[in-house]
This record gives sequence, C-alpha cells and structure tokens, in this order.
Amino acid sequence: MIERTLILVKPDGVQRGLVGEIVSRFEKRGLKLVGMKMIWIDKDFSKKHYAAHLDKKMYPMLEEFITSAPVVAIVIEGIHAVESVRKVVGSTEPKSAPLGTIRGDYAHVSYDYADKKQISIKNLVHASGNKEEAEQEISLWFGVDELYTYEASHDKHVI
Ligand code: ADP
Ligand code: MG
Repeated sequence: MIERTLILVKPDGVQRGLVGEIVSRFEKRGLKLVGMKMIWIDKDFSKKHYAAHLDKKMYPMLEEFITSAPVVAIVIEGIHAVESVRKVVGSTEPKSAPLGTIRGDYAHVSYDYADKKQISIKNLVHASGNKEEAEQEISLWFGVDELYTYEASHDKHVI
C-alpha cells in the first residue's frame, strides 16, 4: 500500500519561484520526500519521459516547454501515494482544476488558449499517472543511491 511516485516542478513552477510552495503542499499532507534534485533536461530525455505522448500533435510543444528551464524532480512516498499526489496536483487543465489543488490555485490557462497559441499547457507540475508509470519514471529520473529510506515524524504521527 505504501507507494512511491514521481513529481516534477515544471519550468513554469521553477521560474515563478513556486518550488517551496509546491513542495510544502505535499509535506503538509503527510507525504514523505525520499529524493529531490534540480535538472535541466534535454530533448532526448524529454522523449523518454513523455514516450507515451510522442505521437501526439502536442508533443513538440510539450518538449519545448519541459526543456525550456530546469525542473525540480521529487520522489514522494506515502499510502496510495500515486493517487494521493494526483489529488493534490489537480486535473491537467488549470482552468478546470478545482481550487485547492496546485494547478487550480496557481494557474488558470485553458486548453483552447494553449491550442490557439500553439503552446503546451503550463500547469506547474507533473505527477505519475499510475503505479506502473511511477515505477518506470522513478527509475528513469533517479538512481537507487539517490533515494533514501529514513524515519520521519510521519511514521509515528501520520501513518
Ligand atoms: P498530466 O500531466 O495531467 O498527466 P498528460 O499526461 O495528458 O497530463 O499530458 C502531459 C502534459 O502535456 C500536460 O501536463 C500538459 O502540460 C501538456 N498537455 C496535455 N494536453 C495538452 C493539450 N491538449 N494542449 C497543450 N498541452 C497539453
Ligand atoms: Mg500524464
């Protein structure tokens, strides 16, 4: 039941100075940080991370966006962490993401605006979509020696 999942604070989140705010939301929910680093990925790495989207019309815009500035990659651990983190993040389109979620609180852009401008949706964070995606993404972004198992107050007071 205890899972790990990958989060990226995307270039817009880093450039807007929202890394602390975003990380804090996961910490406050009682999720445990087990790995974290800043990386500026290249186009090849983007193709690996977004392999499932390669054939889509939006892919070139997504690649341009995700390689435009550094991202902060984080691995988070918790009970049903994949689902729990997606809930904190909110739905893909900020316009329709509920208030109280990261995408709903810190962005408002819509699909039709992004379509018209021919740009990727800037929605601050990536979060793995399911358990298989999480495992695959964590192994792509982190070496085993970059992930830590340690005791946190969560282990006594949250779970
Ligand atoms: P999520 O990040 O919520 O899992 P997807 O995996 O479907 O969403 O898409 C990956 C990313 O591609 C989105 O977070 C967003 O930045 C961008 N994106 C998705 N759909 C569109 C679209 N129709 N137009 C522009 N950008 C999009
Ligand atoms: Mg996705």
